[in-house]
Amino acid sequence: MTEKALSDRVAALIRPELLALKAYHVPDDTGLVKLDAMENPYRWPPEMLERWLAVLRDVSINRYPDAGAAPLKSRLRAAFGLPEQQGILLGNGSDELIQILTMALAAPGRCVMAPEPAFVMYRMISTFLGMQFAGVPLDASFDIDEAATLEAIAQQQPVLIFLAMPNNPTGNLFSTERVEKIIAAAPGLVILDEAYTAFTDADYLDWAQRYDNVLVMRTLSKVGLAGLRLGILMGNPVWIDELEKLRMPYNINALTQASACFALDNFSVLREQSEIIRRERCALQQSLAALPLKVWPSEANFILVQCLNHDAPSVAKAMKDAGVLIKCLHGVHPGLEGALRFTVGSPEENRQLLAALTAALS
Ligand SMILES: *Cc1c(COP(=O)(O)O)cnc(C)c1O
Repeated sequence: MTEKALSDRVAALIRPELLALKAYHVPDDTGLVKLDAMENPYRWPPEMLERWLAVLRDVSINRYPDAGAAPLKSRLRAAFGLPEQQGILLGNGSDELIQILTMALAAPGRCVMAPEPAFVMYRMISTFLGMQFAGVPLDASFDIDEAATLEAIAQQQPVLIFLAMPNNPTGNLFSTERVEKIIAAAPGLVILDEAYTAFTDADYLDWAQRYDNVLVMRTLSKVGLAGLRLGILMGNPVWIDELEKLRMPYNINALTQASACFALDNFSVLREQSEIIRRERCALQQSLAALPLKVWPSEANFILVQCLNHDAPSVAKAMKDAGVLIKCLHGVHPGLEGALRFTVGSPEENRQLLAALTAALS
């Protein structure tokens, strides 16, 4: 086949909405202070690393992983205080759970909804699966626009609504009353995405019991295990048992299962790290107040700011040149004009961030 014939065939067969997509871009971070992806900056104490390696040594890597992952699920129940009658579905990161949920509900003409700006995977995965995606703009304070959202629900009848609590990339929690109204009006399933649960006192886990159409999703990524890939979906087994049918039987590999069990047996270490990050967030917000920025409140391990009189992409570029990688969100959504988002790092990383940001804004 000639090159031309091949590219014609690709263009004819790959769905047009996929041809139009750009692949998810992960920037090269070599040598940079990495504050673009909401990772925990801390590794484990050396003695804990040694105990972890001893656990890994015993993993039978020649065998398929435990498909049911019962030991891991029971530790997750204990860590989150999840009642016995609630079900758990594990994913290779929450990303895979979003994919499973969307696959389960995908059908021509059906719609997925989320307030925007939102976590980009909601829209991307809906597009992958050929579903309509309705992004309803948040209001000027990044809360749910109640009237607009209720109207969009009435018109589009979404089978699936994602609400991140706290929201990424804005960092805030939506008001509880508005979320309740969305849940009441939703004709389908509502997913409360608590990826940042470690950094807020808000906790909606029991809403999965209170509402028949709510499931709660969490992840170990933001508390220090981003490299493991473990997402957790919890709620009524009537839902979970159906979704379970779509899960690849060995999606949670043996090393992840053993490592996550180990981490949950040592969860106090992760909790303490999250506490330090919460305190650092507070300190960082105070320092940022002196700069020419609009600083948004945050209940997560990142902070969103908006440049008042600087070009955000140039600021991000200057910071990268100074060795600090952050996320520029300018142009991603009309509500994010001039917006930059950065992870709360270690005290040393935050010092470097502040120095680079101050210089870029001078
Ligand atoms: C980071 C993030 C996730 C993805 O988590 P993984 O478990 O790493 O796939 C899900 N939802 C939100 C809102 C996030 O910010």
